[in-house]
Amino acid sequence: QDTQPGKEYLMNPLPQFSNDSYKPSGRLQGKVALVTGGDSGIGRAICCHFAKEGATIAFTYVKGIEDIDAMDTLRIINKAKLSDYGDPTAIYTDLKYYKNCKKVVDEVIAKYGFIDILVNNPGIVYDSSLEEITEESLEKVFRTNILSYFFMSKLAVKHMKNGSSIINTASVGAYTGIPDTLDYASTKGAVVSFTRSLALNLIDKGIRVNGVAPGPVWTPLIAATNTDEQIAKFGSQVPMDRAAQPSEIAPSYVFLASEDSSYYTGQVLHPNGGLIING
Ligand code: NAD
Repeated sequence: QDTQPGKEYLMNPLPQFSNDSYKPSGRLQGKVALVTGGDSGIGRAICCHFAKEGATIAFTYVKGIEDIDAMDTLRIINKAKLSDYGDPTAIYTDLKYYKNCKKVVDEVIAKYGFIDILVNNPGIVYDSSLEEITEESLEKVFRTNILSYFFMSKLAVKHMKNGSSIINTASVGAYTGIPDTLDYASTKGAVVSFTRSLALNLIDKGIRVNGVAPGPVWTPLIAATNTDEQIAKFGSQVPMDRAAQPSEIAPSYVFLASEDSSYYTGQVLHPNGGLIING
């Protein structure tokens, strides 16, 4: 893996979506995976790793902060795929609203017929101390970071059978708290509670629900929302003294999506470079 990135890299992070040393074994062969927020950062790495494992991918995207092109993700998925099981699908939509979530699920079902894996991954963050928070900013963050997770799960579960898996993206901030992004950290706490409760709710259906709570990760989100000074410090509070690459986070999702994690539900994995988590 990369060690601490150099100065030039710190200012122009180029996230690493695929890890050449990763050895796929076809453990998602024949599965249909729907990844929300799959065009960029961690979501793009998840799509890439799932495709390497043989899954058919549908992902959603919105125009990213840095105008990231979903077509790039499609190209990466196509390149990564071991076998041509089905064409990937990119769906442009704003998942803050239930009606848009419904359109996504309808489109995926019309094309593939079922969903085996749902990854709820969108996340937005503003600098938001208590003074800065507004009703409008709160609504945007809560709709994107947690309401969309409820909407998508509610809609997708109808098309998921025994053995299917839902994976929610939380954050280390759910456990540590983040002083300058109260709203973001609160939504991530909600993602953890949602994961635990939904897991119990869906036990009888044989659908497992788990979460991933990454520590700091080099993604476009970080480049766009931090000053140069903040970026230079990014990762320094982690025992490993560096932030992760998206390709170091995605394998947790592969594990939770596959039969390898058949006894896991209501759990949260913590790829975070050695931070100790309480709670
Ligand atoms: P990113 O900006 O690269 O990706 C954010 C994703 O959210 C994009 O794919 C975008 O399409 C999607 N999105 C944003 N608004 C949306 C909307 N209204 N409707 C639908 N999708 C929308 O950032 P990232 O760092 O890859 O973030 C992915 C997830 O990982 C987020 O949930 C984030 O909170 C979480 N996370 C990131 C870090 C980190 O350090 N980067 C750490 C912990 C958790």
